[in-house]
Amino acid sequence: MTTLADPVPGGRPGDLRRVAELTANLAARGVRGIVLAYVDTAGVSRVKTIPTARLESAVTWGIGMSPVFDTFLAHDSIVTTDVLGSPDGDLRLYPDLDQLTVLAGQPGWAWAPVDRITQEGARHPGCSRTFLRRIVADAAARHGLAFKAAVEVEWAVGLASAPDGEFVPAVTGPAYGAVRQVELSDCTADLLAAFAAQGVEVDQIHPEYAAGQFEISVGTLDPVAAADRSVLVRQTIRAVAARHGLRVSFAPAVLAEGVGNGGHLHLSCWRGGANLHAGGEGRYGMTAEAESFLAGVLAHLPALTAVTAPSPASYLRLKPSQWAGVFTAWGRETREAALRVVTGTAGRQDQDANLEVKPVDLAANPYLALGCVIAAGLDGITAGRPLSGEITGDPARYEPDEAAALGVRRLPESLPQAVEEFRADQVLWDALGPVLADAVTAVRLGETAVVEGLDDARVAAAYRWTY
Ligand code: GLU
Ligand code: MG
Repeated sequence: MTTLADPVPGGRPGDLRRVAELTANLAARGVRGIVLAYVDTAGVSRVKTIPTARLESAVTWGIGMSPVFDTFLAHDSIVTTDVLGSPDGDLRLYPDLDQLTVLAGQPGWAWAPVDRITQEGARHPGCSRTFLRRIVADAAARHGLAFKAAVEVEWAVGLASAPDGEFVPAVTGPAYGAVRQVELSDCTADLLAAFAAQGVEVDQIHPEYAAGQFEISVGTLDPVAAADRSVLVRQTIRAVAARHGLRVSFAPAVLAEGVGNGGHLHLSCWRGGANLHAGGEGRYGMTAEAESFLAGVLAHLPALTAVTAPSPASYLRLKPSQWAGVFTAWGRETREAALRVVTGTAGRQDQDANLEVKPVDLAANPYLALGCVIAAGLDGITAGRPLSGEITGDPARYEPDEAAALGVRRLPESLPQAVEEFRADQVLWDALGPVLADAVTAVRLGETAVVEGLDDARVAAAYRWTY
């Protein structure tokens, strides 16, 4: 379990007791430096690195970094809000030792996610990891709920030697095809070895639909650890691929046309060790609370899109009939509904039943995405919101009256539309707090301005290697 305690100047007590031994251990394993990782509002993984010998100082006093990154755009220009984006100020990055991992794909390096606090020791309201820790702590305190989560990761493998930022698939062959598996055999085996060494539990890895595309599913964790893991998984895939002369893209749309890269969230609510998505009186074994949780997520989904699909390139992926889930609908194992109810196989349902949220991509900051989806679901539980009727098949084929009867609505088709929905959503605004909500709005509008006048192919190219 992730510790939900905020860092404090002088260090968290538990950390101080173990850091010297940990540092000696890392040094003995040949670890020379530690990557301190966080994800900015735009969804870009940013880092600072320190020599291993500085770890004790980092967990005691943090490492300095400007708060300006909260309003960085994906291409490094900067927008401003009332309180963010100025060149003034400094924050302290505190690594989470529970998540510290020796990187098998980057010999000599270890990795840890960070929380950011102010120099005075207060929570930084722009820190997305702190935000998710708070949402999870509040859910435990107010609702007695815990969650299990996982982020699916899809990516496209290209040749590092391709000219001018172009995407040249590194493998051939059909979707889900054995040809691809064979062609990427060595790299994938190294990847599995790296994950095993890093203690990342892999459920499955397979060739996906689009050219050069693969997907990995990993085991569930508490939401903060699951978000950390999704960052670590991508860092590992990128590093191992680079050692094979390959370049990977987690961008929502590597090319303007066709199926994109998703970052579906899997989430289940638990109370006292019981999964609320199984063994209940509701549909497919859901408890009344699980149904209301789904209803809450569905109700906020158009606004959530500004968080879960945050890039102009996200809207090249969010198209009907491409398994990206672009309609406000739910269904059992329905891959065209935004919410897919996964019941699990007979005999495992109490463990495996969960909710899959599909209109999420890997440009999304996973801490913001999980925190906002949970806040939306909790709003459904608080309000006792009833869940609409389920759908089957592809809602793109529904007649308008059929769609209206089931509350099936197309999600925003552009980033500005999503921002409009987001701005009107008080629940998400309250959950994020004004500083983070303003940052989300400013960054999305900034990205929108960046792509003004660009055609789809240029938008895809602009974000192809950013995420
Ligand atoms: N690639 C699809 C997406 O963009 C998902 C395919 C799948 O269901 O795994 O979400
Ligand atoms: Mg997939």
